Amino acid sequence: MATVVLVTGGTGLVGKAIQHIIETEPVGSKYGKLPNETWIFASSSEGDLRNPEQTNKLYEKYKPTHVIHLAALVGGLFRNMKYKLTFLRDNILINDNVLHASYTHKTTKLISCLSTCVFPDKVEYPLDENKIHSGPPHESNFGYAHAKRMVDVQNHAYKEEFGCNFTSAIPTNIFGPHDNYDLEDAHVIPALVHKCYLAKQNGTPFIVAGTGKPLRQFIFSHDLAKLFIWMLRDYDDVEPIILSVGEDEEVSIKEVTDAIVKAVGFEGHYSFDTTKADGQFRKPASNKKLLDRIGGFQFTPFEQALDISVKWFIENYDTART
Ligand code: NDP
Repeated sequence: MATVVLVTGGTGLVGKAIQHIIETEPVGSKYGKLPNETWIFASSSEGDLRNPEQTNKLYEKYKPTHVIHLAALVGGLFRNMKYKLTFLRDNILINDNVLHASYTHKTTKLISCLSTCVFPDKVEYPLDENKIHSGPPHESNFGYAHAKRMVDVQNHAYKEEFGCNFTSAIPTNIFGPHDNYDLEDAHVIPALVHKCYLAKQNGTPFIVAGTGKPLRQFIFSHDLAKLFIWMLRDYDDVEPIILSVGEDEEVSIKEVTDAIVKAVGFEGHYSFDTTKADGQFRKPASNKKLLDRIGGFQFTPFEQALDISVKWFIENYDTART
């Protein structure tokens, strides 16, 4: 049977990574395109998913049998804090339209993308899939977090009432080519890469906010892409699954910075501004369920993945989201 996989948000960091893997892995291989598959990577210009008519038109046009739903209003801490209602409402609308269109168009399978921001602020670490609804999320991004949590609630409701095969993935911090490198609004890795690149270009010091001590789990977008493709083919469970490197593979912001300095080839002065706040020291998430289900996965070594991302940023500086 012909399979049509629609990737919403197909032009973003994760969508581009899935496209890269699908187009570069050998046809018919574990992560490559299967001969009967057509992949569609949709951007917002193909339809604003906040709008139900435009969402339906997209489904009528491509008739997807499978959907990987990545489209979201995504932003850094500052925008999340300032535009809480917009993050709540836009993401509720996008998710409700995509889930309902997947139901009405009889999509065989839908995987939506959550985030570790959905977890409660006050929670026992490590995070695992059973703790999503066990307390309110951090107030800085409660709009985004509540909208994402509702996807899990809706997935269960669609399954119970209509038997839909809907599920969700929870990635930790993602980085890779096609990231958002905007200095005002980027996540930590793309923001530091951009800052370090400018310091090199301008011959100025490279100053990193905080002590460099906090630890985070970062997943390379190309690895995450493979995990989404695995989910599409082999994960049929409504319960969400955390897609992440292990808790023992946390890296400190200092290690991130050292790797960036090396990849950028920055030889000037670099230091930490310890007067700036650090944020939480650790927020480890368990990937035990993932490893149990997938039976082993080779993550790209952090430095190698970072090097690929930095090279991409430098080569695409003029067109990257800066
Ligand atoms: P990006 O910001 O890189 O891309 C967002 C994508 O969504 C783009 O393709 C964009 O289209 C599309 N989009 C946004 N608004 C709309 C809309 N109204 N209608 C249709 N399409 C829309 O996001 P990422 O790739 O970083 O994120 C993908 C998913 O992963 C999201 O669900 C996000 O919440 C989640 N996530 C991301 C993390 C990260 O570290 N980046 C961490 C954890 C989860 P266009 O290009 O046309 O604007």
